[in-house]
This record gives sequence, structure tokens and C-alpha cells, in this order.
Amino acid sequence: MTSNDPVTMVAALLAVMGVATVIWLLIAAGMRECAAACLCLAGANALQALALVLRWIPEAQLHTPALVADLLLLGAFALLHLSVPLMDDRPSRWPLLLAGLAIVAALLTQMPRGSSPVAHHLAVNGTGGLLCFFAARNTARLLRHRDLKPALCLLFGLPFVVIGGLLLVRPLATLWMPEVPASLDTRGAFNVVWLWTALVMTLTVNGTLAFLLMLKLVLQIRRLTLRDPLTDALNRRAMAEAMATEHQRVRRGHTYALVLLDMDRFKQLNDTLGHAAGDAALKTLVELLKPCLREVDLLGRLGGEEFCALLPYTDIAGAALVAERMRHLLERSDFQWNGQSWPLSASFGITESVATDADPTEVLRRADEALYRAKAQGRNLVQAVEAADQRPRPAVSGQGDPVAS
Ligand code: GH3
Ligand code: MG
Ligand code: MG
Repeated sequence: MTSNDPVTMVAALLAVMGVATVIWLLIAAGMRECAAACLCLAGANALQALALVLRWIPEAQLHTPALVADLLLLGAFALLHLSVPLMDDRPSRWPLLLAGLAIVAALLTQMPRGSSPVAHHLAVNGTGGLLCFFAARNTARLLRHRDLKPALCLLFGLPFVVIGGLLLVRPLATLWMPEVPASLDTRGAFNVVWLWTALVMTLTVNGTLAFLLMLKLVLQIRRLTLRDPLTDALNRRAMAEAMATEHQRVRRGHTYALVLLDMDRFKQLNDTLGHAAGDAALKTLVELLKPCLREVDLLGRLGGEEFCALLPYTDIAGAALVAERMRHLLERSDFQWNGQSWPLSASFGITESVATDADPTEVLRRADEALYRAKAQGRNLVQAVEAADQRPRPAVSGQGDPVAS
């Protein structure tokens, strides 16, 4: 046996598919979150290996096992196709896929299997190739969605395209090039190149999907380190990073504003309705406030019932509008817990950055001072503090006591 012997090559392909099946099964057993995608991939490798064995048996080409091999191959590429959206927790169009496969399977059972299996191979490999092309497109889209460079997205989709091409080229070549053997077990340049490419691409496709899985986990970990698990708002660390980045633009003349807010009498809510109600109120607050913000704005939970909105390219007048909208929305919200309604409100402190602010903590300190004043003035108020005089401006809005500057 040599490395170019079809038997050795097919054995190598079967070994790769077998090992991939076991690895994906182990990952599925160990990681509940990606289990469905991993099971699909284990199934895809296992079915491909079985189909290869069945197609390999020459006499099988004339009997029922040949049809079984075709159906297994279709199933394998359907599972491969399904695994990509599952990696991203996106809905897969499996009913449509199942319907398409059922039609092809019905056609296959009706097609007479004469001495040449080329027509069958064309139907099966054509469908498999199409599914691979879709998998390539979905992989590229998924990676683009995760902000990878377009060139890299295309590169990661390429192995699926090559596998799809291999599936299509085989029956077409046997039709138009008489020197190309119809079966894999014949020695010859075409089979050698085809089997080597299939081997390398099987490894690459499994590697690509492992990369997608790793990327998903990395993003999840990143999300956990930057988000507050209760409200899904950014956490203190993420806000500090964002403020530091935004602060660098101040020297180039781009002002940003901060809206600091603290829920009013939150302890009373906890004490009366319970801690779970307090948690629900915090989530409600974030859901209510998100629509007040633009896409470039960020909302973070600094701790407890204190939140901060970072508004890039915004001055104090713009921040006052946003804060007032938020205050009004909260005041008018109808928070219910176990049939009991509870009024929600918050006090707001706003400020804008100036070129003399050494770092974002100076801006935050001013916003905190404004918030403190909003609390002192009766709560459910928006107050502003400017850098120039460090004195509070008149109450921007709200229901609290009128404020003298
Ligand atoms: P003020 O109007 O002056 O802001 O009064 P307050 O009651 O809102 O403020 P205080 O600081 O006295 O109480 C804040 C409460 O928020 C106390 C704390 O138990 C509660 N709290 C902090 N984090 C959470 C949380 O994650 N969930 C719940 N349910 N409560 C929280
Ligand atoms: Mg409070
Ligand atoms: Mg507080």
C-alpha cells in the first residue's frame, strides 16, 4: 500500500471522520450549550463515513445498499448544513431542508439503477454540494456578524465550497471524461487528487467548525466579563473602559455627556415587595431606558440601583433632554409585582466633559455631585453640574423641589 493507493486514502478518510465523530460527541457530552451543533457534526461525520463504506463496496452499487449510501450522504450534508446556524443559536430552516431531502430521496427511489450509477451520484452529490455552498455562505455570514474581516470570513467559508465542488466534479467528470473512473477504488491521477483534497478538506471543515465553537465561547466569556448578569447592562469595568476611550476624543474637541441615575427609595421597594421584586424592577428599568438611547450611547450598571449612560458627541443640553425623557418614562411606568403596582422613579445627575478634565473620573465626580443634589432636592429630578463653576444649574426638570443655583 502506498500513500496514493485508493484503499489507503479511503482508510485515512474513514479514520479522520471516525475521530471527528468521537471528538464532537465528547464535546457535546461536555458542553450543554453547543450540544445540538456538536451532535449534528458528529452525525455528519459518522454518516459520511458509513456512506463511503457502502459506496466502496462495488457490488453494493447495484443493490439496496447503494440507495442507503445515497441517503446517508444526503443526511450527512444536511446535518453539516444545520450545524452552522446552531453554532450561533440561530433558527435553522430544518422543516424546509427535510422537505427538500424527502423530494430528492423519493426521486432516488424511483430512478432505475442501471449499470451506471452516475445519474444517482449526480442527484445526491448535487444536493450535497448545494448544501455545502449554503453552509459556506452561512459560515461567512456568521463570522461577519462577529466582526471578522470580510477576507477572513470568505477564507473560512472556502473549505465548504471546495467540498461542495468535489461532490459536483466527480459525477460530472465521469460523464464527460471517459478516462475518469466512476468508482473510488480505481487507481489513477483523478482519484488520487480527489481523495487527497477530500481528506484535507474534511480536516479543514472540522477545524473551521471547531474555530466557530471556540469563537462563540470566547465571545461568551467576554460578554460575562463586560455585562451585568442581572440586567445585561454593561458592568462597571466595561463602562470605565468605554469612558476612557471616549475621553481620549475630548482633546480632539468631541464632548461627551454622562447621565448618572439612582433609583429612588429602592430599599423600601425591596423591604415591601421582596428582593425578587427589586431585581425585576432593575431589569424593567434597563428595558425602559434602552429606547431613550442612540446606538452609539452606552448604558451601564455601576452597582446596586445606580446606572450611568455615556452619550458620545453630546453636550449638557442634549444630556438634559435624554435624562428628562428617562425620568418621565420611569415616572409613568406601571411596575407590577404579584398584582401589586409600585411607582418607580429615579434621580438624575448630568454633566459634560471639558478639555480640562484630566480623566473620566473627574466627569463622573461632577455627575455624582449633580445626582446628590437631585436627591437632596426631593428626588425624581434631573440636576446638572458644569465644570466651569462647579455649581449646580437650575433644576433641568422634574417633580422635586425647585432649586436655586
Ligand atoms: P435613595 O432614594 O436615597 O436612593 O434611597 P434608596 O433606598 O434607593 O437607597 P439605599 O442606598 O438606601 O438602598 C439601596 C438598596 O438597593 C439597598 C440594597 O439592598 C438594594 N440593592 C442593591 N443591589 C440590589 C440588587 O441587585 N437587587 C435588589 N433587589 N436590591 C439591590
Ligand atoms: Mg437609590
Ligand atoms: Mg444607590
